[in-house]
Amino acid sequence: MAASQAAYAAEKYIGHDDNAATTQDVSSFPDAGEGDRMNALVWMGKNRVEIAQVPKPKIVEDRDVILKVTGTTVCGSDLHLLHGSILQMSKGDILGHEFCGVAEVVGRQVHNVTVGKRYVASFQIACGDCFYCKKQQSSQCEKTNANSMVNAMYGGRTAGIFGYSHLTGGFAGGQAEYVRVPFGDVNLLELPDDVPDEKGLYLSDVLATSYHCVKDTVVAKGDSVAIFGAGPVGHMAGIFALGEGARKIIFVDTEPRLSYIRDNFPQHLVSNVELVDFKKLSSGITNAETVVSQLKKLCDDRGPDVALECAAGEYAKGWIHWLEMAAGAETDTSEIVNEMIESVHSYGRCGITGVYVGYTNHFNIGSLMQRGIRLIGNGQAPVHMHWKHLLSAIQSKDLDPLQMVSHRVRLEDLDKVYYMFDNKEDNMQKVFVETKFSAPAAPGCPPLTRY
Ligand SMILES: [Zn+2]
Ligand SMILES: [Zn+2]
Repeated sequence: MAASQAAYAAEKYIGHDDNAATTQDVSSFPDAGEGDRMNALVWMGKNRVEIAQVPKPKIVEDRDVILKVTGTTVCGSDLHLLHGSILQMSKGDILGHEFCGVAEVVGRQVHNVTVGKRYVASFQIACGDCFYCKKQQSSQCEKTNANSMVNAMYGGRTAGIFGYSHLTGGFAGGQAEYVRVPFGDVNLLELPDDVPDEKGLYLSDVLATSYHCVKDTVVAKGDSVAIFGAGPVGHMAGIFALGEGARKIIFVDTEPRLSYIRDNFPQHLVSNVELVDFKKLSSGITNAETVVSQLKKLCDDRGPDVALECAAGEYAKGWIHWLEMAAGAETDTSEIVNEMIESVHSYGRCGITGVYVGYTNHFNIGSLMQRGIRLIGNGQAPVHMHWKHLLSAIQSKDLDPLQMVSHRVRLEDLDKVYYMFDNKEDNMQKVFVETKFSAPAAPGCPPLTRY
């Protein structure tokens, strides 16, 4: 049995805690036959996803909303599920934590959501009134994830997440034609008429995540900022860092992503951007040029003020970490985090936003201590803290999410898109996934590609 399934079996044996205020592990619904089915993207095992016909979701609790999905996407963190590096998956789980749509059914206790109106969902499921939710730190909600392994592993709870394994509550995701949104009164934000799905969708995760990592790591006026990972989150973190007054952004990644940034970053900001291709550099302790030496050179021979991790811990660069991860001796590599710590100037700041799951080896705690580096885990972004502000920035045209969107695809092709996205084929940066309920493409969106 794969590790991800074994961990779920273990969790079932240990049992859930009773803290959650919403029903857990609702990853499938009773089947009422032909007319009651929908298309959805389901996880079928390590490196295997499929489009399947599954029963439509139903109202389980009075604060649920059933959303008819009109836009969804694949996230870099969905690839961790595809690869089986996130624990506790079970066959048939519907994936997808970023989606928007039209309210189809509204539970009896939801008074601020109207059938027929458009909403974007937060990727995390918040209860709205626990200790953390009251502070808008909704990703740490104490009431939506009863999984006891999370509490044991991390020393505290995190919120439930749509379509993101039984480690985060086992909620069915939104890469589907319909989805159940628990606490629909808290986890849906209405999209006004001047914000089409293609722009509003990304409030569910990417925009909130990239904005949060910049704010949480405290990027300030005049800073130079190294961004590790030039995917959609890194791209938008660059935009937000410049918005905070940063003077220079350096993206560390490789092709085709660096070219995507060069070609799609707003023209008037390109002069503030440098690109570093890590594949052309050495790593570790060496006299050859490394990412660290390159970043020092680009920032007064001292290093950037801030480094932001917008990649993830599952991609080993060298064979030592590859082996240790394969052998289960660690879950995440420390290579990028070490490069961040070593590259920033003394007393510099490093924020981690890319997904890290468990434990890591060979962490450069010496550099961290001796040089006074501030290492900040940004947490899964608390969407509710930022989404209203970001929505107004889209409305005022200060923020254009479409710059990171490279493709428009159909839900029916999404299984193929997963593998292409994983291999970064066809310069795929961020996709907008339409369903049969979507409106025609809004102006400025990429045209539909079929696979
Ligand atoms: Zn995401
Ligand atoms: Zn809560």
